[in-house]
Amino acid sequence: MEYTKLSSYRFTKGKFISPWNEFMSPVDDNKSWTYGRLPEYIWIALIFHKYGRQEGFRRLSPILRAIKEKTSLTHIRMSDILLASEAEKECVFTALLDYVGIDCMAPLTVVISGEIDSMFALKFSNSMLIDERVKIIQDCMKKVMGHNSKGATDIRYVPLVYSLICGKLHMKKEQGDLLFKYQFEHNSAEEMELIGALIRSCELVLLSNEKANDDYINVFWNAISELTECDLYIMGFDKEKEDTKKYYELVKDIFYYFQQLYEACDPLDKRMKVLLGIATYSFKRLEEAEMHNLYNAISGRSIIRSMIENYIMMKYMVMLEKDNSSIWDEFETYGIGQYKLVLARHRECENKREAHVDTHILEAIVNEYKFEEFQDMDTRYFKNDNIREKASKVDEKDLFGLYYDYDSAFEHGLWGAIRESSMLKCDNPAHQYHCVPNVNEEVTLKSIFNDCVYVMNKTIHFLDSVYGVPESKIGEIDNYEHTLVGETN
Ligand SMILES: [Zn+2]
Repeated sequence: MEYTKLSSYRFTKGKFISPWNEFMSPVDDNKSWTYGRLPEYIWIALIFHKYGRQEGFRRLSPILRAIKEKTSLTHIRMSDILLASEAEKECVFTALLDYVGIDCMAPLTVVISGEIDSMFALKFSNSMLIDERVKIIQDCMKKVMGHNSKGATDIRYVPLVYSLICGKLHMKKEQGDLLFKYQFEHNSAEEMELIGALIRSCELVLLSNEKANDDYINVFWNAISELTECDLYIMGFDKEKEDTKKYYELVKDIFYYFQQLYEACDPLDKRMKVLLGIATYSFKRLEEAEMHNLYNAISGRSIIRSMIENYIMMKYMVMLEKDNSSIWDEFETYGIGQYKLVLARHRECENKREAHVDTHILEAIVNEYKFEEFQDMDTRYFKNDNIREKASKVDEKDLFGLYYDYDSAFEHGLWGAIRESSMLKCDNPAHQYHCVPNVNEEVTLKSIFNDCVYVMNKTIHFLDSVYGVPESKIGEIDNYEHTLVGETN
């Protein structure tokens, strides 16, 4: 399938508008294929399920003819049939019994019980066990839940044909002939594509004139979902298997070298303090991932996000330094100002419960070099650029767009991240493939280790370009990354 490129979306007020939604209003739930229409045409689905495509079409043909000739029904949705007069229902059910038999429709009596429609229940009940009936409906639904699946298109074709023979749908003769060919095999791929497009466009016309029968749809889903259990499965990735400790040791060795360099060369250099400080923070986050094996954990995403942001910030400040030599002081002041704000809020808060924010530590840090009364507090982004703008300015747009945004979803608890990490998928079509909270299973998300190596190596190379790192040490981390990339490819 070809996906629409981002450039084709209209970006307005911070939102990417899909080109499809520019000229089509989305179909509401009760008219959507899976939720709204499949329950209505489940009787057709059962016929295909029992007899297969060709035989299914062969048997449906006289059924449609009988409904057309003997009733005034203009729709063949199950809800329309159930709401018809007793005499008309009798005609439809007799046609079904004549051409597909009791066994084919019997599974549906678990949904359309005597309480819902006594005539249906009476005509189609047989000795089939409830579990068996439910299983048949589940298997049948599984095949046709996807609205683009071939099985779903076969079913959707049947009401279109009925609308045509009832004269409710009009089209040119050539189009009608083409549509009619659909039920036969051996159409060329090109023809099938044309027919598919024709089916979809006719359906939209019909749907716009249809009113969904919410009561029946609710009855269907309530009955079928209550009769079946969740069938849960977890989509997990392998635990990280690389020799991560080896890489960690190589990086640690380089950071030890930086520490010595700073102490020996210029311990009062503000620029070096800030740059090495930020890089060391990245190292510490990598160290936590290593020590606590967080590569496959949710926390790992927070770690790599922070490493990316740190790297972008380092590049960003070195870029600004050309026109602003006090940038290093400003960075410190900005961060301390944030701490002061937290401190001030805590002092003014009545609730003095024990928390992880320790006001004594904050007080010591805020007052470390400057009396706090002289400390400003800036609540904007540092230098007014958000991280997206900073990344773009230092030519690291991809690092931001491809990874940082994804990890941010985990940091902010957005639904994509919740769905991926904390919900289990239920494989039961009768439950509409819903998701349920994952309480017992361990989460093994795809490992962040490769990205840690990628970003940490970029960070170290950046520091190398500023301060120089012995070639042998750089060679070791580069080799490590090359081996990884080689293995991945
Ligand atoms: Zn379920």
